[in-house]
Amino acid sequence: MRKSLAVVLFGLLYALLSSSAAFAQVKGVYWTTSGKFGPFPITGLIPSIPKEKQRDVTIPVSMWIIDHPKGLIVFDTGNNVAISDGNCKSYWAAGNCDLLKPSQTRADVIDAQLKTLGYSADKVKVVITSHTHLDHAGNIAMFPNAIHVIQKKELYQGWWPEKFQGRTTPGTFVMADLASAREFNYLELEGDYDLFGDGSVQILTTPGHTLGHQSVKLHLASGGKLILAQDAIWMQENVDGYPAGLNYSVLDYTKSLNRLKFMRDLEGAQLFYGHDEIQYAAKGGRWYK
Ligand SMILES: [Zn+2]
Repeated sequence: MRKSLAVVLFGLLYALLSSSAAFAQVKGVYWTTSGKFGPFPITGLIPSIPKEKQRDVTIPVSMWIIDHPKGLIVFDTGNNVAISDGNCKSYWAAGNCDLLKPSQTRADVIDAQLKTLGYSADKVKVVITSHTHLDHAGNIAMFPNAIHVIQKKELYQGWWPEKFQGRTTPGTFVMADLASAREFNYLELEGDYDLFGDGSVQILTTPGHTLGHQSVKLHLASGGKLILAQDAIWMQENVDGYPAGLNYSVLDYTKSLNRLKFMRDLEGAQLFYGHDEIQYAAKGGRWYK
């Protein structure tokens, strides 16, 4: 009898341990930036902002490094390495260089940032790309061994944007960013996705800014939740009711922004924007655990 009780207890303990392993959570996530854009007037990005709220902004180009027991993840790879150290016009359209005024140095590029944090780029297991614009998909080519997670529609969009979004290359979509990674392994999604099957890294479809934009929700080991909006929400002004000026669909953009905002409120999550100067100054360049 005693022996069978011990067996039952052992069984229970084993079940508990294996179920907690099945719900592994994010060990830590680091928020960094691929240099900055600016300064330029905020109305260049958000024309709906009234005159009295106009100001010049110098904005971050958000990238996230996620340490998970099942593997290292990078969420967005920033501006291409070729535009570093004042060489923007060698790779991007001159008009975009003049407009965005990127200040990226070589040390700001994702591979260098990984190295600073003690990781090597070839150990990255998963690269999640929010969308295929030049400041988010710039260095996917640095990760030939990773599984690249992107919405299928966004791949189509990157290769053949609607005409009003601009088809010149290099433009807002830089064909060379995508072409150099064409033979990689893509997990092409058509909707939301639970990356490791344990709820800890959830991909959320947030179209509008582009056709197949996606955001990420993280569940930290400490119990906290983070929503990484990227360009579903550029900055606080968008949440305050001023829509971004560059959208594939304003209707989808508004639905996606509301989705993340309500998720923040219902789940008590922290919501991080893709290009918010003030939020990055207060909360960027650090680990969340
Ligand atoms: Zn962006």
